[in-house]
This record gives sequence, C-alpha cells and structure tokens, in this order.
Amino acid sequence: MIWSNVDKIIDRLSPLNLLRLYRLTPPWLVDRVRIARFRQTIQWAARESPFYREAFAKWKIDPGRVRHPRDLGEFFTAPEDVVADPEKFLCAHPSIVFESSGTSGKNKNIFYSHREILQMGQIMAAGMMLMGLAPEDRVANAFDFSMWIPGMLTHSALMNGGQFCMAFGKVDPIEVYRRLETYRFNVVMGEPTWLIRLTEIAEREGSFPLKLLMGAAEEMPPNAVPWIEKVWQGAKVRMCYGSVEQGGGIGYQPCDEFEGYHVDDSDFYPELMDLDSEGYGELVYTTLRRRVMPLIRYRSRDITKLMDTPCSCGVPGMRMSRLRGRRDELVVASGGNLYPLMFERIFQSVQGLTGEWQIIFRLNGIREILEMNIETDRMDIEALEKEIHRSCTELYPDLMKNLALGIFEMRLITHPHGHIRQGRKLRRMLDQRYTANRAPEEAMVRSNPIEVERVI
Ligand SMILES: [Zn+2]
Repeated sequence: MIWSNVDKIIDRLSPLNLLRLYRLTPPWLVDRVRIARFRQTIQWAARESPFYREAFAKWKIDPGRVRHPRDLGEFFTAPEDVVADPEKFLCAHPSIVFESSGTSGKNKNIFYSHREILQMGQIMAAGMMLMGLAPEDRVANAFDFSMWIPGMLTHSALMNGGQFCMAFGKVDPIEVYRRLETYRFNVVMGEPTWLIRLTEIAEREGSFPLKLLMGAAEEMPPNAVPWIEKVWQGAKVRMCYGSVEQGGGIGYQPCDEFEGYHVDDSDFYPELMDLDSEGYGELVYTTLRRRVMPLIRYRSRDITKLMDTPCSCGVPGMRMSRLRGRRDELVVASGGNLYPLMFERIFQSVQGLTGEWQIIFRLNGIREILEMNIETDRMDIEALEKEIHRSCTELYPDLMKNLALGIFEMRLITHPHGHIRQGRKLRRMLDQRYTANRAPEEAMVRSNPIEVERVI
C-alpha cells in the first residue's frame, strides 16, 4: 500500500525531479525499493497470469514466500515462452502491442497499458537527461515506429521531457538531413547504422554543429564514435540499452568515464546467469513496475557484466558493461534482428544451391557487410544474385529497405561443393564485427571461392 502511493507520487515527477531522486536516493534504500517491488510483482503475476501460476506450481514455488530472485531457484522465463503463448502472461487489459523478431522466426508479442507507456516515457525522459538531453533541445527522432517499440517509446519520452521534436520514424536519412537546418534540430536519435548513414551524408554535403546523437537497438562500432563526433563538430554520441521486452531503457550511457551503461535498477531487477571466469554472464531481469505483462527473471540472451562499484562520474547505482554478444545465434545487424531461419528461407527458393551456407557479418571501416557464403555449381552468377535479391525482397522487405537506405552492404561469395562445412557442426551465422565476438576457429568458409566478392 505504501509503495503504491509512493509509485503514484513518483509517476507525477518531472524527469528532472526523477533524476534528482535517483541521484539522491542512498543505495540501501534503492535495494529496499527493488525488493519490495520484486515481491509485489511476484504476487501479482502469480495471482493474475496463467503462465506464472502454472510455472510456479511446476517449480513448487510459493509466491508468498519469495523475498528475493534466488528464492525462485532454477525458474527463469525464456523468450521461447513468450513466443509460445504471449497472452498467457497477461495480468491486466492491454492497450498496445509491439513485436520483436525471435530466433525461431516467429515474432514475440509484448503488451503494455497506456499507463505503462507513459511511465516508461517518464523513466526514459530522465535517462535521456542523464545522457545530456535538456528540455530546450530540438530532437529529430528517427527510431522505427510501425510494429516495433523504439519510435513510440522515445516519442513518449520526448513528450514527457518537453523537447521540441519531429517523429520521423526510420526514413531515408537524407530526409532528416534536409530538415536539420529548417527546424534547427540539435539532437538526432536513431539506430547506430542509420546514424552512420546520416553522418556519411553530412561528411559529403556539409554538417551542422549538433549537440548529441543518441543510438539504441544495436551496437555502435566503437571506431565510429570519434568520426561521428568530429563530423558533427563536437557532438556527443550516447547509447541506450533497451528492447521491446524491457520496454524502454534498462541502461543509459551518461558519461565519458565508462563506456558501458548505468543501469536503472529501481525499475528492473538485473541478475547474471552462467557466469564465466571473467564475470560475464547472460543478463536476466525482472520488470518491477509492469502490471500488464510482467517479465520475471527474463533471459535476455545478452552477455554482459554487472558492477556495483561507483562510477567516477558520480552517477550512483549499478552499471553494466557493453554487450559481449548474443547467447544464441541471433545477430543484431544491418538495422534489424537477423537469425539463421531467415536465410534458410531466402535460399530455399533459389535453384542450384547445396543447402550449405554461412552468413558472416563484418565491418569494412564502419560500414556493415552482410556476406553470404553459398555453395553452388551454377556459373550464371548474375542471374543467381538477382534470384537471391528477389527472394530477400519478397520475404524480408524491411531488410531490403535497410539495404536500399545504404545501412549495410550485401556481398555474395560462391564456393564449390563441400567447401563450407568442414566436419563439425556448421555455425550458420558468424558475427565478426567486434573483436569480442571474433573466434577464428569458427570461420568455416575456406578462402578460395569460385567468384570474387560481388556486391549485390
Ligand atoms: Zn559514469
């Protein structure tokens, strides 16, 4: 009861006051708030959601006795549970749904109430202030709307924060570039690959003195940051870590002292599972204020490290490192979530392939390359390229939209029979964009293709 009244007061705070509260609350009190909200969430979910009711019964968990995540033993929620039956998670009437692509190829549906969208907007508005956004800033918001959450959520945050903005959505970067001067925008938000594309235009056509570029939804190539900051005449580049399941940011990057994220540990209960010797593990979190579709010990599949030592920038609370990679084979690249099944489908309708293929993601400077390695006897490579292109366009128009926007390059490399698989299980997708993910022994493709690289 006390906490629900506290929450009502917190809901009405301006982002600036929320931020003040965040900075001033001592860590022991944050711990108590987190535990109290955690217990409330468990009891609420056990009472209202068929999924959790069944799961707790199966794991012999008495919700009334749960004080801490460790009291849940080996119980975790997996993305596959959400894919299987998202409506079983519902605890209250939803107002809106977003989707997120899953590894199985079937999208996850995540539901929210109107109040939750406003709450997340407020939290995100405070997070963005932490990253340097001020109420007087003028923001070009190029995050994707449609079925995905980033556009709607950042828009809710901007409405809450009081900034002047335009909700572009993920349009051709040239459209945003042309309006930067007209509306005197000094902040641009979008996916990193999209921001890179915009910066390439500015480098060619002339730039403006921006204050801030804010990215999310995928990793930013580290060597792109100094270049972007230089082109935009001293702008800062800041990243936010969030997803459709998290509903907003769980981590923000407020400072130069630390390249990871400062974690919102009063709205999420973060944990790590399967720690390695360096302290990295899969991020698992519980949402603490969501009442429509709470996620309890949800496995993010992202590998990171949590730190509770204070940051030299003075912002209190838990921190997490940059992501080390994904636990499964899903790769966030080329402006979207890509998974092996997508390519299986793309190649299925193309004649003359052996069924052996491997996708390698590389960086050429800061440009992403999606390299398709396929086995074939076909010699009519141009026709083959056209067929693959057509298949991609029919099946995944979003991906091809990103290709058309110049967000990545696609290359086709053909190999003779038996050259892609070499004995052991073939990893269908290799992410070699960042050193942390690079494992030379995983590169299965021999370097003697029939054709030289071709850009399609
Ligand atoms: Zn810091």
